[in-house]
Amino acid sequence: MNYTLLATPAESVSGRFVRADRKEFGIIPGVTDKQYYTNSFHIPVGYPISVFDKISLEGPYHKYCNAGHISYVEMSSPPVKNPEAVETIIKHMKASDMGYAAINFPVDYCTSCSITGVIDQDNCPRCESPEIRRVRRITGYLSTVERFNDAKVAELNDRTIHKF
Ligand SMILES: [Zn+2]
Repeated sequence: MNYTLLATPAESVSGRFVRADRKEFGIIPGVTDKQYYTNSFHIPVGYPISVFDKISLEGPYHKYCNAGHISYVEMSSPPVKNPEAVETIIKHMKASDMGYAAINFPVDYCTSCSITGVIDQDNCPRCESPEIRRVRRITGYLSTVERFNDAKVAELNDRTIHKF
């Protein structure tokens, strides 16, 4: 037999499939009670787990998904002042047999005054503009939040930061 296995589904599938299953089976706690299904072999986005435990648990599945795979860890801010942490994470990804992985962190940008960083409030802390471009990774792609579908916004809101 000649086949491949793909770990990461199309961006809209995690929301579309749960809606279809709800129509047929209703709301099942722990199964169809969210607006999205968890992608591939990923630890659910809201599950509290350390960076290293997440990598150790997901890494062994990469070799089985020869058509494509990715794993992520979530950081609370860009790790620009801690390159040693990034190096430690990447080395653990390699030791855990990951083929493709990413370190996610928020990048916010005020389109009025151009400050960049993590802007936790609705308006810019410097110029008070509400025009904040919020870039996040979703299913393998970097995008601005307003382009996410409803299921992906729900997933984004459920994400937890993975502690070091
Ligand atoms: Zn501003």
